[in-house]
Amino acid sequence: MNRAIIIGAGLHGLSTALHLARAGWDVTVLERRHAGRHSSGINAGGVRRLGRDVREIALSVIAADMWANITALVGDGCGFVATGQVKVAESAADMVKIEARAKQVRDLGWQHEEVVDAAELRRLVPAIAPHAVGALVTRDDGAADPMRTVMAFRGAVLRAGATLIEGIAVHGIAPAPGGGLVVDTDRGPMEADRVANCAGAWAPGLARLAGEEMPGIAKASMMIVTERVAHFCAPTVGSASRALSFKQTAAGSVVIGGGHQGRNNLVTETSIVDFRNLANAARVATELFPRMKGVRMVRSWCGIEAMPPDQIPVIGESTTLPGLFHSFGYSGHGFQLAPAAGAAVAELMARGATNMPIAAFTQTRFHTTARAA
Ligand SMILES: Cc1cc2nc3c(=O)[nH]c(=O)nc-3n(C[C@H](O)[C@H](O)[C@H](O)COP(=O)(O)OP(=O)(O)OC[C@H]3O[C@@H](n4cnc5c(N)ncnc54)[C@H](O)[C@@H]3O)c2cc1C
Repeated sequence: MNRAIIIGAGLHGLSTALHLARAGWDVTVLERRHAGRHSSGINAGGVRRLGRDVREIALSVIAADMWANITALVGDGCGFVATGQVKVAESAADMVKIEARAKQVRDLGWQHEEVVDAAELRRLVPAIAPHAVGALVTRDDGAADPMRTVMAFRGAVLRAGATLIEGIAVHGIAPAPGGGLVVDTDRGPMEADRVANCAGAWAPGLARLAGEEMPGIAKASMMIVTERVAHFCAPTVGSASRALSFKQTAAGSVVIGGGHQGRNNLVTETSIVDFRNLANAARVATELFPRMKGVRMVRSWCGIEAMPPDQIPVIGESTTLPGLFHSFGYSGHGFQLAPAAGAAVAELMARGATNMPIAAFTQTRFHTTARAA
């Protein structure tokens, strides 16, 4: 049987493991902490095609179909609700921007983004501020519960026959003397025919150990959760020109994000909330939803993730170490993509090619590979 090692039990590692195990591979997932410890378990749970980089739309559309049938994939609904995603236009200039965006998406052959006027926006989001003039909407996008999703994928991976080892750290990847690859861990070496680097913010460091330099930074997006308030908002709401993601949970808490940045430390695997930037997130939220003024914030946090300079992921076989496959750099929007990206990476690992739309994500776009000395 072909053996694969997946480094990282975030959603991308788990999804890749799931698809590979179901294809008959002997799969072992190695996770330094516990499944979902980093971005995958603590994100905003947005399941969004709306506003995607055009290079991500095709994969995101496949992922949307998988989310609509997520129980069939992982045996649990993951808390997914298709309550829509709405990007609010706050000015005439915003309306011009979203009209152009909707046309761009339509011209590429996609139908999921729709411009709505102020009246329809108010029907969808009655609590929106009076100055809002319209919106770009994807009605069947939605949101899911991040940690429940991780646990659903984790369970499905185990039921598919894969092995998950938590509390094990990978320190290097190299060619094995007899063919295949050897993964150096703090519990000794392990061999496999193929290895996936799904180590999130730490993936560029692992790539570097395999001789491949990747440009980019680690980002630390912050989140706020408020006290529970009476239900007033069904869709996930963003802004056409400002950083915001705003959703209300079934329990009434409001979850606010949108990419406002804290600070991270990759060595200690920690991140710290920057209250000045967090205040910006709260200000945008209250400007779009005046009723949020005075609502108490009960918790805030941030999560670490790799972000290439062009803010789309790196998916592809290593150019320096054949048999090693990278899947990382989802830049704050990889939760929605995980079911489909995992299928693509698994197919790439199993047969060396895939018809899934991932060509734009190859790391050769950076032209900066360098062999380790
Ligand atoms: C605050 C926040 C909000 C977000 N909101 C959304 C959203 O609404 N919608 C959306 O689509 N996306 C969102 N995202 C992005 C999304 O969470 C990520 O794109 C996605 O979870 C990345 O998954 P991953 O598996 O690549 O990485 P991770 O979840 O970070 O998993 C990587 C795993 O690798 C492990 N690891 C690292 N190094 C090693 C090693 N050497 N050995 C063994 N294991 C190792 C880590 O411990 C970690 O568990 C958000 C992210 C954040 C931080």
